[in-house]
Amino acid sequence: MFKKLKSIYATFSLLELRKGLAITFRYMFRPKITISYPEEKTPQSPRFRGLHALRRYPNGEERCIACKLCESACPAQAINIESTEREDGTRRTTRYDIDLFKCIFCGLCEEACPVDSIVLTRTFDYHMEEKGDNIMCKEKLLALGDRLEPQIAKDRAADAKFR
Ligand code: SF4
Ligand code: SF4
Repeated sequence: MFKKLKSIYATFSLLELRKGLAITFRYMFRPKITISYPEEKTPQSPRFRGLHALRRYPNGEERCIACKLCESACPAQAINIESTEREDGTRRTTRYDIDLFKCIFCGLCEEACPVDSIVLTRTFDYHMEEKGDNIMCKEKLLALGDRLEPQIAKDRAADAKFR
């Protein structure tokens, strides 16, 4: 009987509605935790694992020595490398592809690289329009590395003591 009376009271006094509105009013005056993306962005760690890039040395030479450690470390088998020896005896890649559909952004390729060549950047807002855009080829990776080098170098310096 008491339970029934309680339920009738709750129904006619709009108890649930008032409870909901109380929460709305409480949050109305609290600092907002949502942001207006893309004008505003949340802070990112220097270790953020976004889109990949290949880096160069300051003299423009590619860092990658085609050792294929990244390829063997990749648990998703997303990296494909082909290489050749140059006239000066050094080895360089002729093909360096990362399949973004396979990649799980674990960062193991970056960890495995002995010369800090393949890195994961802070870039997370990208899209694909054409079939095949999921393949990050060497040219795309180097171009991204060239464009983002100042930020990449800054992030590596910030993280250097932990590596
Ligand atoms: S981030 Fe991980 S899954 Fe992606 S290419 Fe590198 S090692 Fe492979
Ligand atoms: S990116 Fe680094 S780990 Fe991968 S092949 Fe080049 S040098 Fe070796």
